[in-house]
Amino acid sequence: MKIRAQIGMVLNLDKCIGCHTCSITCKNVWTSRDGIEYAWFNNVETKPGVGYPKEWENQEKWQGGWVRRPDGKLEPRQGSRLKILANIFGNPNLPAIDDYYEPFTYDYERLQNAPEVETPPTARPVSVLTGKKMDKIEWGPNWEDDLGGEFSKRSKDALFEGIQKEMYSAFENTFMMYLPRLCEHCLNPACVASCPSGSIYKREDDGIVLIDQDKCRGWRMCVSGCPYKKIYYNWTTGKAEKCIFCYPRIEAGQPTVCSETCVGRIRYLGVLLYDADKIEAAASVEDPKSLYEAQLGVFLDPHAPEIVAEAQRQGIPQSWIDAAQKSPVYKMAMEWKVAFPLHPEYRTLPMVWYIPPLSPIQSALENGLIGENGIIPDVKDLRIPIRYLANLLTAGKEEPVVRALETMVAMRRYMRRKSVDKVSDPSTLKGTHLSGAQV
Ligand code: SF4
Ligand code: SF4
Repeated sequence: MKIRAQIGMVLNLDKCIGCHTCSITCKNVWTSRDGIEYAWFNNVETKPGVGYPKEWENQEKWQGGWVRRPDGKLEPRQGSRLKILANIFGNPNLPAIDDYYEPFTYDYERLQNAPEVETPPTARPVSVLTGKKMDKIEWGPNWEDDLGGEFSKRSKDALFEGIQKEMYSAFENTFMMYLPRLCEHCLNPACVASCPSGSIYKREDDGIVLIDQDKCRGWRMCVSGCPYKKIYYNWTTGKAEKCIFCYPRIEAGQPTVCSETCVGRIRYLGVLLYDADKIEAAASVEDPKSLYEAQLGVFLDPHAPEIVAEAQRQGIPQSWIDAAQKSPVYKMAMEWKVAFPLHPEYRTLPMVWYIPPLSPIQSALENGLIGENGIIPDVKDLRIPIRYLANLLTAGKEEPVVRALETMVAMRRYMRRKSVDKVSDPSTLKGTHLSGAQV
């Protein structure tokens, strides 16, 4: 057993309000420089939507992530010798600058001086009604929610007069959510394996993935190789750059900038201990639907005396063992199982975890679709389809997502009884209204 410590993050999507404060503060601190204006180490995109960069989830298009060789082992799609040689003449799998939407041109003066307007400016898509362009901008990482706003406003103005009722009700049932994204600081990073210069490395002590700027030769195979598209090329320095998990702050005992400035307080940082000898087997399991559980299988219980003793023997600092024992990431991902990795089917074992949004459950609660005991009677009644969340977070396996949502509903009921209804002994709620869900 080779024990390593890894810092990770959990984001509670139910609490994200899409304010982009995290992106702006990250931008100001890390990428407000020449050559990297277009890059957002942290971005918040609207889902379902094309994302940032455009269609980043389409691995066939960008040739990112891992592929299985005939002998069953994994290799990075961008890592073969043939690819490296071919890329001498230009890497065809790179997003173009237009795929990154618009560069950072925020003008603070406008905060004070902008004239009053009826609606905030929005990037406009192709019209769903006529198929004609509504503006020269056809997409954006967030235009799905902007379009939704425009659509409902227009509906009030009877602009849909004459449009079939069914079509209108289809739009009434649309849904959206926010997905803040950053480098996943993966346990099995495809970027590291794709780099012909060996300039990308994963730090032994905390798992943060960094690019050695002196070694980088600007091949950009990491840009196409990262399935999350979280490496950016700096056009001024000719080197690749990425989120550094604010490591100077982490080393000083401070949270990342995005965590500290998050308005919704949705981000939790924590340490996990894992067995590095299990990484390859976990990433290689045959069935993609088993990848989420396989990833859980690499983490170690930081409370188990034998794990603590072995971690100490292998030189893991006591402060990191203590942090792992108190880790909210461990609690939410491993104990309560309410947080999930993003697209585990990419096989990089990502270390940024997401709690699926309750908002659809809230609407289901209001519509009487959830049973008294907090258990969902029929998941197909939920506004955000479970299948959609499962495709995002568990490679399509629905049961863990349903369980997590039930747990979150149970927690909400428990806290409401305690803090709003002032139930004097909330422990009596356990096993009754919560029906055994984990609280
Ligand atoms: Fe590398 Fe980060 Fe991409 Fe993972 S998400 S492959 S660590 S750049
Ligand atoms: Fe969401 Fe927090 Fe970022 Fe606002 S600052 S968009 S609430 S993650």
